[in-house]
Amino acid sequence: MPTPETFVVAVIDDDPGVVRLLSAIVQRGGDHVLEAGSVAAGERLLREYPWDIAIIDRKLPDGDGIDLCRMATRGLSDTHRYVTILSGMQDHEEVMRGFEAGADEYLGKPIDPAEFAARLRAIRRAVWTQNQLLLRLAQLEQLSVIDGLTQVYNRRFFDTEIRRLFELSIRHQRSLALLMLDLDLFKDVNDTHGHRVGDQVLVEISTLIAQEIRSSDILARYGGEEFAVLLQESEAGAACALAERLRAVIEQTALETPAGPLHLTVSVGVAAIPSIAIDSSARLVESADRALYRAKTEGRNRVAVDRSARTSSTNSQPRAASS
Ligand code: GH3
Ligand code: MG
Ligand code: MG
Repeated sequence: MPTPETFVVAVIDDDPGVVRLLSAIVQRGGDHVLEAGSVAAGERLLREYPWDIAIIDRKLPDGDGIDLCRMATRGLSDTHRYVTILSGMQDHEEVMRGFEAGADEYLGKPIDPAEFAARLRAIRRAVWTQNQLLLRLAQLEQLSVIDGLTQVYNRRFFDTEIRRLFELSIRHQRSLALLMLDLDLFKDVNDTHGHRVGDQVLVEISTLIAQEIRSSDILARYGGEEFAVLLQESEAGAACALAERLRAVIEQTALETPAGPLHLTVSVGVAAIPSIAIDSSARLVESADRALYRAKTEGRNRVAVDRSARTSSTNSQPRAASS
C-alpha cells in the first residue's frame, strides 16, 4: 500500500529525452521512478517491481506499448494502478485501441511539462483514494468473519463455510468431520471471578485449540463458550483422536487470567461424513450437538460420538476421559 508521500512511477519510453523529462517531473513530485526502453524490459519491470502509475509509449523498438498496457492492467483487483499511454499515435482509432487495452488515459505527444505535472498530481490523488477504499474494504471483510473477542472465525462465517465444505466433500467423496467443544461449568468462572476473567479464558482456550489444528481446519466460535472445528478430509477416527488431544491439552494447561492460573475442561461432540444418517450440513451439526450433549450427561471432560450416526468406515471408539 503506497503512502500518499511516495508513489512508484514506471516510465516506459525509448526516447531518452522524454524519459529524462518525465523522470524529472516525477522526482520533483517526490516520487520514485522506474525506467525501461522496450516492451521486453517494460514487461520485466512491471512484473517484478511494485508500481502505482505506469506511463507507456506506443512505438517501442521491439513492439507496441499497447501490449504492455494490456499486461499491466490484467487481473488488477486488490490494488488500484493507473496506466497512461503517451504516444504520437493519436488518431481516433489508435486512441480507442489504447482504452480497449485497459489504459486509464491516452495522451498525445509532445507533452507540456506543467500540464503533465498537474495531471500526475490528480492521478496520485485518485490512486491513493482508491487504494484507501480497497484497504478499508478488506479490513471490513476481515471484521465481518472474525469473532471480536477470540479472533477466530465467527458463527456467520462458520455457517457459510460448513455448507460449502459439505457440498464439496459430498461431490468429491471426501470425508469431513466436525467437533463441537463446550467449556465445562464455565458459568462458575464468571460467577466466581467475573466476566473479564471469563473472557480471558475464552481467548486462552481458542488459542490452545488453534495451536493444535491444521491450517486447513476451520475454528469458529459457535456460541458463547462453544467452539466448532471443521476438519477437511478427516474421518471419524482421526477426528476423535484430535478431539481427545484437544481435551487433554486443555485439561493439562493452566490458563493465564487476571485472577491467576485457572484449570478448565471441555466436552467434545464429534460427527463426520461419510455417514448414512447425515445428508446435510445441518444434520452434521445436529449429530455433533447430540454427541456433545452425551459427553455432558456422561460426566463432562470427555469426547463422544453420536451413536445414531456412526460411519461404516470407522470402528474407533472415543476414549472417555478418566476423570
Ligand atoms: P456446562 O458444563 O453444562 O456447559 O455448563 P456451563 O456453565 O458451561 O454452561 P451454561 O450454558 O450454563 O453457561 C454458559 C456461560 O457462558 C453463561 C454465560 O454467561 C457464559 N458466556 C457466554 N458467552 C460469554 C462471553 O463472551 N464472555 C463470558 N465471560 N462469558 C460468556
Ligand atoms: Mg458450557
Ligand atoms: Mg454452552
